[in-house]
Amino acid sequence: MDPMNPVVLITGGGRGIGAAVARLAAAQGWDVAVNAVHGLRSAQAVADEVRAMGRRALAVQADVSDEAAVRAMFARVDTELGRLHGLVNNAGVVDVAQRVDEMSLARWQRMFAIHVQGTFLCTREALLRMSFRHAGAGGAIVNLSSAAARLGSPGQYVDYAAAKAAIDTFTLGVAREVANEGVRVNAVRPGIIDTDIHASGGQPDRVQRMAPQVPMQRAGTADEVAQAVVWLLSERASYVTGSLMDVTGGR
Ligand code: NAP
Repeated sequence: MDPMNPVVLITGGGRGIGAAVARLAAAQGWDVAVNAVHGLRSAQAVADEVRAMGRRALAVQADVSDEAAVRAMFARVDTELGRLHGLVNNAGVVDVAQRVDEMSLARWQRMFAIHVQGTFLCTREALLRMSFRHAGAGGAIVNLSSAAARLGSPGQYVDYAAAKAAIDTFTLGVAREVANEGVRVNAVRPGIIDTDIHASGGQPDRVQRMAPQVPMQRAGTADEVAQAVVWLLSERASYVTGSLMDVTGGR
């Protein structure tokens, strides 16, 4: 065990894109904290895979929209893995396909709580640990946005698209705020990626249905998104901040 490995916290890291990021980050030398809200067992399995690669790992349960739970999660990372170098704000949900005139306030509140409030809360805790302003030693934050932020997702989930657009603007603003404090902040905007998220929104065939609309004529994989995320986390992206990187097959 090398105590000098950089440490990254990945929200929603037990499955889908987050799990792919956890595996690739471990393969590239990161110790990894894997967060889940319901699927702690999956997060523990990913943490076991990380340990099998010779890195340290922690599975930690928290709802990213719950301030007290987020604080407690970061405190556990401090205690069990040490200084934080990276944060991936990946936790996310979709809801069933609806028009805006059919949506409830409760749906909008959940959508914005998880994506926007969750990203803000975790970013604040990370900055308090990474920024030179707070005696940190620098770091990198990657936010999972979506191509939906520029497409709007009409008839599907305009609320999700708008929450992702908020994440884009948050990324631009925070990146410039802390650019001189050792912290880089970027976003990745995936297109149609083959994960469980589509089934969770009641559209298990969405990937197959949408693939012909993608210029590359196929969905992307979680691993293809992870490549962009882990690159942005790494020192190879040392002059990249405030960027919104599309990983969409041209869509
Ligand atoms: P996924 O397979 O459905 O996984 C979502 C992850 O988010 C799960 O690990 C889940 O944890 C976690 N999560 C949900 N609510 C949470 C909360 N309140 N607190 C903490 N964790 C929470 O989704 P995915 O496709 O990998 O998506 C990952 C990110 O990429 C999301 O932000 C999504 O919006 C974005 N994205 C995905 C696509 C796509 O086509 N797949 C496209 C564009 C953007 P549990 O396992 O505990 O439930």
